[in-house]
Amino acid sequence: MSNVKVALIIALLAYVTFLPPYALAPAYPSLTPQYTYIFDVDEDGRANVTIDFKSPSPGTSWFFVPNATRWELKVIKGKIISKEIKYTKWVFYNNFTFSYIPSGGSFELKVSYFFRYASIIVTDTAMFVSPQIAFDKRSRALVLLKLPLTAIVSLDKRHCLPFVPSVSRELRKIVLRYEVSGRKLNVFRIYLLYHVPWTPLLDYVREVKVGGKVARITVKAPARYKSIAERILRAYQGAFPILANITHTTLSYVTVRFFPPTFKNLWTGGYVEPFTGGRTKVINLNPFFIRTRNGSLEQIAIHELVHQFLLAAGIYPQKILWFHEGSAEYFSITIAEKLGYVGAYYRERELKDAIKEVLIKERKRPGFIQEWGGEVGRPITHYYAVAYYVLKYLADHYGGLRYYSRFYSLIREKRVIISDQNSLVYFLSKAAGKDLYPLFKEWGFKVSRVLSAFPSIPPPKAPLA
Ligand SMILES: [Zn+2]
Repeated sequence: MSNVKVALIIALLAYVTFLPPYALAPAYPSLTPQYTYIFDVDEDGRANVTIDFKSPSPGTSWFFVPNATRWELKVIKGKIISKEIKYTKWVFYNNFTFSYIPSGGSFELKVSYFFRYASIIVTDTAMFVSPQIAFDKRSRALVLLKLPLTAIVSLDKRHCLPFVPSVSRELRKIVLRYEVSGRKLNVFRIYLLYHVPWTPLLDYVREVKVGGKVARITVKAPARYKSIAERILRAYQGAFPILANITHTTLSYVTVRFFPPTFKNLWTGGYVEPFTGGRTKVINLNPFFIRTRNGSLEQIAIHELVHQFLLAAGIYPQKILWFHEGSAEYFSITIAEKLGYVGAYYRERELKDAIKEVLIKERKRPGFIQEWGGEVGRPITHYYAVAYYVLKYLADHYGGLRYYSRFYSLIREKRVIISDQNSLVYFLSKAAGKDLYPLFKEWGFKVSRVLSAFPSIPPPKAPLA
């Protein structure tokens, strides 16, 4: 055996013996009922989930079970004497309440199910977000998160939430161990940001013909998310002709790239960077949203596509971001609903609730969205909601999507670039056949009337001295 090998083995032994084996850590009195959650995650982020409940004495208890996934229940020891499944405010979870009696000194049940997107993995970054863990306060819980040996885990607060686990090794798995007393914490999720061996993004391509022109859509996604990439392609295939019709513009190509979610951007559905006028930009899309409502990811993807069409049509966002975002929300929701994506209805409801909150309860005027994100403490959803409100209000009063089709036909005809409020309201008025300045003034927008708008000089294609 070489010296290097010996050193390695010693190092490994030291590492393994340093870690406490589970059996030596009886941190709780054994009479307390215990839930053991096991998330056994594979290289592609898929998990087999087991929830095991054990109690030495009879009683009642409850825990969350998923309602959109099939799960299996087995009573290992003892007997269930009653059970009930109730709705919760969690969209994807029900409350399973049961009474039980032990036999031979213990009661045990097991629920198991398959969870496809436990970790979202893009290139070399993986984000594990457990299903919602929730159980009777009077119990304790042990959570074992098992990862492939190829996973690289950092045990610190920047990578582990809600707290840093202890770690050990099984034959084929790294095991992260979380112990909690239900009295301290009985409703939570486990988050872990870790690294895996790098896998490439592949190109999934579809061509769409719009008005005799071919548009090439490319989705760059890991092979494991081929089916998600295809869903995005299908959504774009449906959205392209509608958006081309509204904006009187088409795109020759569009690229969507999946990005790995981290703690900072977990709830960012998508973004375009840098978000300026000019050439078509890459759309970054967060595959984590596959775990939200069905059709939400498609609606988000269409939202980002709307930005591209608007940029191509000559709407530049720097000073009128509210119009870009409002259009992205209004068109994506309307189109996604047309195409049958249920997630869009939930987004619509979320925005409508926020509109009530801001415009009715708070009695705020919509004009505050001109300073996008400008108010400290105001949730960003309020800006999206009110921008959506303005876009929808105009559509509802002046002819729906056809109103915007008139608007874009006017600006395309005149070849103008719209980058400020005044010319925007000028063309919105033209398309409405009505002076909209008073309305925008009443809404609190800072606008001054312009009497005509001239063709703009096209933006430079290359840096100019
Ligand atoms: Zn947007």
